[in-house]
Amino acid sequence: MKVVIIGNNVSGTFTAQNLRYFNDEVEIDIFTQEKYPYYTRINLPELISGKKTLDDLIVFKEDWYKAKKLNLNLNKKINNINPTNKTIKVEGETDLVYYDKLILALGSTPNIPPIKNAVEMKSKNQGLFTLRSIDDALDIKDFIKNKNAKKAIVIGGGLLGLELANQINNSNLKTTVVEFFPRLLPRQLDDECATMLKEEIENRGIQVVLDAATEEIQGNGVITGIKLKDGRIFDTDIVLIQAGINPTIDLAKEADIKTNRGIIVNEFLETSEKDVYAVGDCIEYKNQIWGIIPACMEQSKVVAASVLDLKNVDYKGTTPKNTLKIVGLELTSIGTIDPSKEESGAWEILKKADKKDCCYQKLVLKGNKLKGAILFGENNAMSYVYNKMEEDVDKDELKRLLELYSYTCNKCGLEYDEAKMGVLFKDLPPDWKCPNCKGSKKDFTKKN
Ligand SMILES: Cc1cc2nc3c(=O)[nH]c(=O)nc-3n(C[C@H](O)[C@H](O)[C@H](O)COP(=O)(O)OP(=O)(O)OC[C@H]3O[C@@H](n4cnc5c(N)ncnc54)[C@H](O)[C@@H]3O)c2cc1C
Repeated sequence: MKVVIIGNNVSGTFTAQNLRYFNDEVEIDIFTQEKYPYYTRINLPELISGKKTLDDLIVFKEDWYKAKKLNLNLNKKINNINPTNKTIKVEGETDLVYYDKLILALGSTPNIPPIKNAVEMKSKNQGLFTLRSIDDALDIKDFIKNKNAKKAIVIGGGLLGLELANQINNSNLKTTVVEFFPRLLPRQLDDECATMLKEEIENRGIQVVLDAATEEIQGNGVITGIKLKDGRIFDTDIVLIQAGINPTIDLAKEADIKTNRGIIVNEFLETSEKDVYAVGDCIEYKNQIWGIIPACMEQSKVVAASVLDLKNVDYKGTTPKNTLKIVGLELTSIGTIDPSKEESGAWEILKKADKKDCCYQKLVLKGNKLKGAILFGENNAMSYVYNKMEEDVDKDELKRLLELYSYTCNKCGLEYDEAKMGVLFKDLPPDWKCPNCKGSKKDFTKKN
């Protein structure tokens, strides 16, 4: 049997590895339009700042593929799929490639919001960039050097935008992050934690502008600035857009494979066409797309089993896990972090907010089940949270882990439970009074 995989990043590569793990005989051909074997996109911002080299990013060199008997075809763009004849066509070649089973691991491309001049200035290399590939990173690096750029604007205050801004700032460019929403990391944080993060980012010398809808990229032949809808203008030498992703669906759509935002798949990652599967950033399952590596890894196991007719596992979706990778800033957001947006139920929040020490720990429970967390500043609870996600937990153990305590008023017996109050007892003002008997802070004793 011959399996053809289009795409050679996390999803394509790990699917190939899993196929080979299950079956030593099957022929596996991988096609990618990129010129590099599998590399990690995580470190692309550091390729721009010079903290990492191209070699550092390559995860598997070509001899890895040879050892696993995987036929890797670099620099080969596929421009047509024919599910009826079971063939694909490589751009510029006349011979068609036959497959028994086809896996689409096509990934996604950066989203460019509807901003006047953005698409044109990007295509004409006039100082507007997105970051997805090694080639994008090298182009950005060259532009900064050749134009002697001093100021940068990053449009998008999500995880990738902030990581990119941090590395650009480390490259000695005066950096501004412009975010459409009224807070940073709108999908991963609540207001309180986002405010703390903003302060930390600004302490690093990065300007943060919130509630900022960019209307226009300005400049004649080369970028000079951006204009916001409220009229504010910011000067810049380079603009970097990190504003979400669009799954790559064109190839599938042209072949009449069902698509919506992504390529639609079932729990075995089968598409609407027989013997055609899809995996990774390009898929849509139960109206959701993921765009994160843990989802690609989980799906690559399912799709490999499915292609080999083992079907011993089905895909159940992946809990979103996100970590901000900025040295000195520990921040992880996982699962449900804002129950007010979920269906009603017995939701409970355990929270520790210590602004002075820049620490914010929020655990979201439904019944006794751990459903989500924001961990900022401290990561004592990290491995517990990762292991216990979606499981029943012991609340007292969680409180101990977060170092949250209860204090009892010696006069009236009122209990001040830090986990529920949101303010640590030590952070209450010195003149704070017991809400029941008006006793002072000194009248309270720590309970556990
Ligand atoms: C800067 C950056 C940092 C990131 N950091 C993190 C992180 O810290 N944690 C995390 O979980 N995720 C992170 N991500 C997201 C993560 O990289 C993606 O989820 C992952 O790369 C998706 O893998 P994929 O194989 O599905 O798709 P992709 O990585 O997009 O790979 C698809 C490949 O298919 C190729 N292809 C597409 N169409 C064709 C065609 N017609 N012919 C031939 N080849 C084709 C593409 O060129 C591409 O090489 C980051 C992404 C970026 C850009």
